[in-house]
Amino acid sequence: MSLPVVAIVGRPNVGKSTMVNRIIGRREAIVEERPGVTRDRKAVDAEWLGYHFTLLDTGGWMADGDALDDKVSQQSEQAMREAEVILFVVDSTVGVTPEDERVALLLRRLATPVLVIANKVDDASHEAAIWEFMGLGLGEPFPVSALHGKGTGDLLDALITHLPEGSDREPEEPVSDDPELFSVSLVGRPNVGKSTLFNRLIGEERAVVHDRPGTTRDAIDTIVETQTGPIRFVDTAGMRRKAKIDEDTEYYSLVRALKAVDESDVSLLIIDATIGVTHQDQRLAERVDAAGCPIVVLLNKWELLNTEQREKIGDDVERKLGFLGSPPVLRISALSGKGVNRLWPELQQAVGDYRTRIPTRDVNKSIRSAQSAQPAPGGARVLYATQGATDPPTFTLFVNRELPKTYLRYLERSLREDFNLGSTPIKLRVRKRND
Ligand code: GDP
Ligand code: GDP
Repeated sequence: MSLPVVAIVGRPNVGKSTMVNRIIGRREAIVEERPGVTRDRKAVDAEWLGYHFTLLDTGGWMADGDALDDKVSQQSEQAMREAEVILFVVDSTVGVTPEDERVALLLRRLATPVLVIANKVDDASHEAAIWEFMGLGLGEPFPVSALHGKGTGDLLDALITHLPEGSDREPEEPVSDDPELFSVSLVGRPNVGKSTLFNRLIGEERAVVHDRPGTTRDAIDTIVETQTGPIRFVDTAGMRRKAKIDEDTEYYSLVRALKAVDESDVSLLIIDATIGVTHQDQRLAERVDAAGCPIVVLLNKWELLNTEQREKIGDDVERKLGFLGSPPVLRISALSGKGVNRLWPELQQAVGDYRTRIPTRDVNKSIRSAQSAQPAPGGARVLYATQGATDPPTFTLFVNRELPKTYLRYLERSLREDFNLGSTPIKLRVRKRND
């Protein structure tokens, strides 16, 4: 079962991230160990008095301005609609701004309950300022100081009264934790050919297909039996031909896509080759990458391209998706099926990498040679290393003192190269020797 979503909205700098950290900081925050993750996640799970929920920071999607951001705002609206409760954060040191009013207007039209948070009420002298926010027409504001942790308890007490029944039960183990099941998500803008490809994949003779409820609300996952075992396609409800309802708004909202990505071990990023790599494709790739999910790029509708276009798009991918490193790129026609069967070996390779187990001796040899080629600064050193787990390969490094993040990335890269780990995620755990 997925957790109820609590969306946090508000203009930049009102203290949304501080608020999220404050709320999850009350419980142990889960620390992401994948060195590839550079940006903050936008969705985190939180708990208050036994109630579990997902906090969704829609922060980056609120900006106004060009057409792209309009689109992004639509996604943000969608997130708000799907939420159980909305926390609308405003800045008590600034007062009501025109942008706040714009957001309030939108929120008043939704059926979702909204709690107004007057943030930065650091001491009693600021409290009078909050009454101005009554004018937003969304009820009495909660005075809070996210920075100092004042007022958040009352806020959370109020918040949980809006959560659906049963949110106070322990969440069930998500399907994605089943170590045997390798999970794949298909992502891409509308009309790039996700459904066509998906139906082509499951239409193949080899594929024995069964559906089961996914971890996201209303989601259906499809399990396909392949030669290397079952592969789970995450959140395929909108891709099954019959179920293709209201796809763009319902199923492929950015929020939903990112949730699917979060649950998968590999993401297939589908690009419409007749259009090329668009800004939106880049943004999507960035988000997928930031979630620590390896990507296979699929250039679809390949049969429609002439020779010149075919050459051009190769450059396009290199230039515009270069930040992904060198992801595998497949040229396919989902419609005719051409090239699609090369996807299976690619996924099998990914599954294999994901399950790799490397003998301790070899791990240490690789780390030693990486360290002698380029020692860490300040005398920091890995003394001993071992692969503690597979699915994905997880290495424990015992160190004499902390290693800089950049150095960890260097070690990750060299392990990846030495053991041909392709684009599988790798986790590094660092332990000080006397821990
Ligand atoms: P976001 O852009 O809405 O996510 O805002 P941030 O969480 O990044 O906060 C913006 C700035 O406001 C940061 O400098 C925070 O330290 C500051 N801030 C956040 N909450 C409070 C608060 O309760 N009191 C004060 N004085 N500053 C705060
Ligand atoms: P989705 O919105 O990403 O699921 O895209 P669809 O699978 O619905 O495909 C959008 C349109 O592109 C449909 O008209 C498909 O028939 C067409 N399409 C998908 N794949 C191909 C392809 O490989 N070649 C061509 N020519 N058309 C394709």
